[in-house]
Amino acid sequence: MDADHLRRFWAKVQKTEDCWLWTAALDQGYGRISVAPGRAARAPRVAYELLVGSIPADRQLDHLCRNRACVNPAHLELVTSRTNTLRGLGRTARNARRTHCPKGHPYSPENTLVSKDGERFCRECRRLACEQRRRRQGVPALNPITRQRRAIRAACERARRVR
Ligand SMILES: [Zn+2]
Ligand SMILES: [Zn+2]
Repeated sequence: MDADHLRRFWAKVQKTEDCWLWTAALDQGYGRISVAPGRAARAPRVAYELLVGSIPADRQLDHLCRNRACVNPAHLELVTSRTNTLRGLGRTARNARRTHCPKGHPYSPENTLVSKDGERFCRECRRLACEQRRRRQGVPALNPITRQRRAIRAACERARRVR
């Protein structure tokens, strides 16, 4: 980062006794800053690299204060992405220790769907739920009529939302 970018970076930070708040653009809650023409970076990473040191490729920053908009390096800790996920959500942590879904299907690579925040879902259960709804609605599995296809898709959408 050149002097100009540096100056602009710190101008966007509002230091409080506790967190250093990012006052400019946020990306999924994290501060976002242009570091060079056409290149953006996450503000906490920039602050950490400026004040602490470089971040290895296999590490992520975890906000100990749980405030994503904070760029105070004292609140940031280098962790592996798995640690970050496990810490982030208690539910994900409990889920990660299980080897089978509540119905007893294995969380094997083929049978597991993983959401963006690391939560796992059982594919077999999804499939069974879709099938059940399809049967209940009396829609045959193979039917070229658009209206019925839509009903199936809607049923699957609903099944997806049920956890
Ligand atoms: Zn903080
Ligand atoms: Zn299952």
